[in-house]
Amino acid sequence: MASALYIHIPFCAAKCSYCSFNSYTGLEGLQGRYVDSLCLELQKCAPEGDIEPLKTIFLGGGTPTFLSASLLRKVLSSCLALFPVAPDAEISIEANPGTVDAEKLDILKGVGVNRISLGVQSFHDRELGRIGRIHSAAEAVRAVDMARTAGFQNLSIDLMYGLPGQDSGSWRTSLDTALSLGLNHLSLYQLTVEEETPLERMVREDRLQLPGDDEVVAMDEISAELTTAAGLFQYEISNYAQPGYQCRHNITYWQNSDYLGVGSGAVSCLRGCRRRNVAGPEQYCRLVEAGKSVVLEEETLETDASFRETVIMGLRLNRGVSIDRLQTRYGLLPESYYGKTLRRLIADGLLEQSAGYLFLTDRGRVFANRVMAELV
Ligand code: SF4
Repeated sequence: MASALYIHIPFCAAKCSYCSFNSYTGLEGLQGRYVDSLCLELQKCAPEGDIEPLKTIFLGGGTPTFLSASLLRKVLSSCLALFPVAPDAEISIEANPGTVDAEKLDILKGVGVNRISLGVQSFHDRELGRIGRIHSAAEAVRAVDMARTAGFQNLSIDLMYGLPGQDSGSWRTSLDTALSLGLNHLSLYQLTVEEETPLERMVREDRLQLPGDDEVVAMDEISAELTTAAGLFQYEISNYAQPGYQCRHNITYWQNSDYLGVGSGAVSCLRGCRRRNVAGPEQYCRLVEAGKSVVLEEETLETDASFRETVIMGLRLNRGVSIDRLQTRYGLLPESYYGKTLRRLIADGLLEQSAGYLFLTDRGRVFANRVMAELV
């Protein structure tokens, strides 16, 4: 049994132009059935006997807070009734400004949610409009205030850089605004233009211009400068936190540890076996209601493949990957497994090995994609 649980809520109020996640609009009528199906899947996965309690629960999406307050309460209460949960468990929810209100936040707090990750992306309305976000910068600030009033101490914001029409000046002011809110966690993602998204079409047709490479490098430098000045330390390629506020659930993924995922499109990784549920929420409900399996695909990872994944994922963390843990888990060491390739990456100043960890150097983080491609 894993000690991390992910629950997928696939509904959104509108589809953002860059989004390739498993999320759907116009399915409001399905939400009640979907939550009932989630409760049934949770029941089916619930452990029996005396087992290790959950240390993290993460409601992600989609937009979990697009569900009504009563549906949110139903899914969380069902989960807490079925699974043993550690008293200090991190229970996170992804929320979007424009879909939270005082009632929802009070209910979330009341059922034990203790961490909110707000998808803000930018504090400039024009940038938000260009990527199809439904909220304004003012609503984002209000959402943070409301979460604080409801008693949430552990608050994170997602921001994106490399957005159409963005420059280093507007990135600096977005980041300044976020930091002025006194958050203890920030996720800063560089925009990726995914195939077959409206954004990709608009960029291809020259209807939107993305900032150039030099501008993006300048934004990276601004991120390092402002987060450091604000006392947030980078602990993962895209994540910054005050000490003690790193997202424990996501660290489970980066350490390639076991986790259970429920809901449409959710992935689980348990004892070397990875499985993915069917993506469509309607199909997911039909299968659950018929008492059939919702698993679409399942693969057992070979030791080699799992070892390489653990190295690659672990290098995302600034601390890196623990060499002892690799040896205990796989009986393999990076030096002997990667041989010359690893020695060259270390000699080139891209990787370093010390105090029992293998990690990317500052220079290695700049070329992280290249390093990972050599180790994958
Ligand atoms: S809110 Fe998130 S999941 Fe929903 S469409 Fe936008 S990016 Fe995708």
